This record gives sequence, structure tokens and C-alpha cells, in this order.
Amino acid sequence: MIFTVETATPQIAQLLHEYPDLAVVQSDSQMVRLHGHILVFRIYNDFTLRKTYTLDVIIPIGSDELPFVIDTDRQIKQDYHHYYPNGKLCLATDSQIRIRFIDGFDLIAWMSEFVELYYFSYEYYERFGIFPFGERAHGSWGIIQTYQDFLTAKNEVETYKLMHFIKNQVYRGHHPCPCGSGKPLRNCHGQAMLLFYKDALSKKIMTDDLDDLDRELAEENERKRYRKKAK
Ligand SMILES: [Zn+2]
Ligand SMILES: [Zn+2]
Repeated sequence: MIFTVETATPQIAQLLHEYPDLAVVQSDSQMVRLHGHILVFRIYNDFTLRKTYTLDVIIPIGSDELPFVIDTDRQIKQDYHHYYPNGKLCLATDSQIRIRFIDGFDLIAWMSEFVELYYFSYEYYERFGIFPFGERAHGSWGIIQTYQDFLTAKNEVETYKLMHFIKNQVYRGHHPCPCGSGKPLRNCHGQAMLLFYKDALSKKIMTDDLDDLDRELAEENERKRYRKKAK
């Protein structure tokens, strides 16, 4: 569960303090809905964004569903690929947000790191045709990228190897790193991998994702085999 009424209330109060043009418009035992404006003011390279966005922030209560944002004034182009037809913003992969907030969900940090950054990345992409901080793909590709960032791996194959290692092996700093560098774990990817060894919930989220990926890959291989046979 991400929020109870007790944990959500002080965080929402703090959020309204940070973003004074937001207000609670609906509140019941299952969710709190905020509506209003946020000012996004950010500078990156030579690009300055200073723009107000109108949005709904929905904070589910008593649920494992992450908070989400609706672009109520349709300020994002409908054909932008990180945008759902119902106006919901595709902020990042769920796993990325969940692991970022493993120690407790922080609405203020979420607004700044995911919501504000979403708008900034969108405007930057509209103007320059590239993403300022890289782009996250959808589906399994996006999931792999999420772990690639967490594990500081150089590509998806290496990421996959490290994930399997975390799932199946105990951590011993002097053992060789599974990336194949020949260095001991502690001097290689070990530091990044420890996040998952130290925190049971992070590890659970990761191994669940890995099981999904394994299943998808197995299905894909099965389809390939079938196509070959059919020829
Ligand atoms: Zn997306
Ligand atoms: Zn390594």
C-alpha cells in the first residue's frame, strides 16, 4: 500500500504548500484528487522553460496504485508517445518510481523529479527533437532500461545478467562480478547491486519484473521456433 489516509494527509498538505495553485477538489476513502496549476521553471543547456500547466493529481489511498497526473487542459499533443488517450501522463515505468520511493513515497519529490521533469522533457523534445535526459521506452524494454540505470550497467544484456545474479546468488564482495570485467564485485557493479540485496522489497519488485521478462522472452522464442517450423 502506498498511502493510508494518515500518511497521505501531511504529504498532501506539504504539497499544497509547495504548489499553492493546487487545491483538493475531491477526497474520499479511496482517493484524493487535486486540481489546479503548477509552474515549471527549469533551465537546461540553453533552454529555459517557464510555463504553467493545468492538471489533476490523483493520489490513490489504501492501494498499490501509484499517484498519477491527468493533463486536463490538453497541453500535451495527443500524438506524443508518452501520453495515454485518456489524458494520463506516462511519467516513467512503475518500477522506476516504486524503487525510487522504496523508503516511503514522497509526493514532493515525485512532483519535482517525475511530474515537472515530464513537462520539461516534453517541451525540450518538441523543440529539439531529442530528450534532454534520455528516453524511457515502454513495456519490457522500458523495464530493462530502468534496471540498467539502477545497476549502472552498460547495456541491456549486462543488465539482464546482473538481475539474474541478484535473483539467484548471494552477495560476496570478493567474488568476480557477473558482468565479466574480471574485477571483484565490490570494485565493480557490487555497489549498485547492493540496493537490491539490502532491501527485500526492492528485490521483490526486481525479481517479479525479471520473471515477467523471462516469460516474455520464452514466449518470443517459442513464436520464433514456430515460425521457423511453419516455413
Ligand atoms: Zn511513456
Ligand atoms: Zn561488473
